[in-house]
Amino acid sequence: MSTTIRIAVIGGGAKAAAICAKAASLRDVHGIDIQITVFERDEIGAHWSGGHGYTDGAQRLCTAAERDVGFPYSHDGFGARVAADMQARFSWAAFMVATERYADWVDMGRHRPSHAEFAEYLNFCITRSGAEIVHGDATFLEYSDDSWTVSYMDGIRWSFEARADFDGVVITGIGPADSKIPSKIEDERVLDGETFWQSCATLPDVMAGNEDQIVIIGSGGTAAATAGWLVRAGIRQQITILGTQATLYARADSAFENRAFRDLDVWKKLSYGDRLDFTNRLTRGAVWTTALDALNGARNVVYQPGRAQAVRYDPVGDPNGEILVEFTTSSNPTSRQYLAASLVVDATGFDPFWFAKMLPSVWQHEVLGDKPRMQSAMSDSMELPLTGCRGLHAPMLSQIVSPSYSSLMALGAMSDALLKPYFEAISP
Ligand SMILES: Cc1cc2nc3c(=O)[nH]c(=O)nc-3n(C[C@H](O)[C@H](O)[C@H](O)COP(=O)(O)OP(=O)(O)OC[C@H]3O[C@@H](n4cnc5c(N)ncnc54)[C@H](O)[C@@H]3O)c2cc1C
Repeated sequence: MSTTIRIAVIGGGAKAAAICAKAASLRDVHGIDIQITVFERDEIGAHWSGGHGYTDGAQRLCTAAERDVGFPYSHDGFGARVAADMQARFSWAAFMVATERYADWVDMGRHRPSHAEFAEYLNFCITRSGAEIVHGDATFLEYSDDSWTVSYMDGIRWSFEARADFDGVVITGIGPADSKIPSKIEDERVLDGETFWQSCATLPDVMAGNEDQIVIIGSGGTAAATAGWLVRAGIRQQITILGTQATLYARADSAFENRAFRDLDVWKKLSYGDRLDFTNRLTRGAVWTTALDALNGARNVVYQPGRAQAVRYDPVGDPNGEILVEFTTSSNPTSRQYLAASLVVDATGFDPFWFAKMLPSVWQHEVLGDKPRMQSAMSDSMELPLTGCRGLHAPMLSQIVSPSYSSLMALGAMSDALLKPYFEAISP
């Protein structure tokens, strides 16, 4: 390996900002040259700004602003000087000071940032880090002679281009909406966790005078956020949240749970099953109380336990017909029940394996053929266990490596773990 490491990050979001910032600190504090190139399809922070789905930008983060790109600022990563440099240059407070908003933010109760503010912050970090930004939609990843090539559709020249000689590639993003409903029609009245936010501005007009209930399918953060938006928009008809759990479970700030998110010594003592239980209970299966607040006082929101089996027209096949959600309950899985709906929001999840289509077919099959192994055999630096290649990192699949690397819980620790092997390879 040379004395320079080159890493490609696919997606200019939260993970990219954390990795770019840490690489800049390592360069300035330790003289270690790790060059980051960020490939971004839309704009830096696209999934937070409100301009490209997933949110309207006005929603607030569930996690605190202080869980920024350097959190938890542990000295164990790269030492006290890097932690201090990260705090001084890339923290949320540094962003607030640089944009003259710090005093207001403190006076106003150190609120959780809106998603749009968070997008601005990510842009601030990536720009300040000096990382290279390529405006392009990454389409294909190739690997030979220990190095990666990223092919992409250039968003400025509208031509296919390629950049070579990367020592590692980091895939980011939760992926496109991925329905868990066995049968679902395509209709403008059936939205999902991505498209809801692109249509929501016109929904109050569309729904005006329509008395039928709205059905939201799913029992996680996306279901709660869409229901919260509808309540705040003054939608009057019943909003039914249909989820496979018994109810919407709440996730609050608890010192025990929060510490468990960053104590890797404790984490490593847990079995595979216990780790899955933890992340399913606290990240997938629970809704932050900040998101539940909007629903707690709403009389028109009800929760219905059940598994959606189909979203179809009534009569079947008639696109002018009513929309019907068919579901079963766990006590009676063979008997179908029905909810007539004016609008359906499918909030059943996203596809974190979205990147497989970018890989040569042999690795595509390896990734998709054994998804559990991709997670259970992942390295500490979140490298996928692929045969015959190294350096493909997928932090959004890292729930077994750490409970916090796939979310915003400890972006600083995530970037430490990911960059460590590269740092060690070129440290004098
Ligand atoms: C709306 C929303 C709110 C969330 N709120 C919280 C929260 O409060 N707390 C928490 O802990 N977790 C939250 N999460 C979950 C999780 O933390 C984040 O999804 C994750 O950490 C985002 O970081 P990321 O860098 O992986 O992806 P993102 O920040 O989503 O960035 C991915 C980027 O990749 C780009 N992209 C996609 N495909 C390509 C391609 N082919 N080529 C180039 N670029 C591409 C996208 O345009 C996007 O900018 C939230 C998720 C969402 C979607």
